[in-house]
Amino acid sequence: MERTLSMIKPDGVRNGHIGEIIARFEKAGLKIAAMRLQHLTKEEAGKFYEVHSERPFYQDLVDFISSGPIVAMALEGENAIAKNRELMGATNPAEAAEGTIRKDFAKSIDENTVHGSDAVATAKTEISFFFTDKDFV
Ligand code: ATP
Ligand code: MG
Repeated sequence: MERTLSMIKPDGVRNGHIGEIIARFEKAGLKIAAMRLQHLTKEEAGKFYEVHSERPFYQDLVDFISSGPIVAMALEGENAIAKNRELMGATNPAEAAEGTIRKDFAKSIDENTVHGSDAVATAKTEISFFFTDKDFV
């Protein structure tokens, strides 16, 4: 059993895709163990994406992630990290496989609808960014 952090980014919330995205997780056997709708401040978004602070797109990424509410979820299941990344599709929706969330809902690499942790260590850090033990049901 593994946990991963999923975030529905502001474009996914704005375009009304929360339900469809969550349905894909549940159909794939991932359980929602904790969940919250939240509008991140620029400072919080900057902290969440701190690993990318040296990248040229960092400021645009921070501005976008703080541009409206997001849905943060801890997903739980067997191979949850890899399973979520598979459901999400490639970072650039133009390269995402058919039937993936990014292929179906994302407009561009900047606004790519979902975030998912990429490893056990980042999943742990990212889950604790949003949730404490008492948020888990
Ligand atoms: P995420 O971390 O959001 O789940 P990812 O793991 O697929 O996406 P990362 O390499 O971690 O991709 O990049 C984080 C985010 O930064 C991407 O989701 C994307 O929005 C943005 N990004 C990544 N590479 C680029 C790029 N070359 N140009 C513009 N934005 C980018
Ligand atoms: Mg990433």
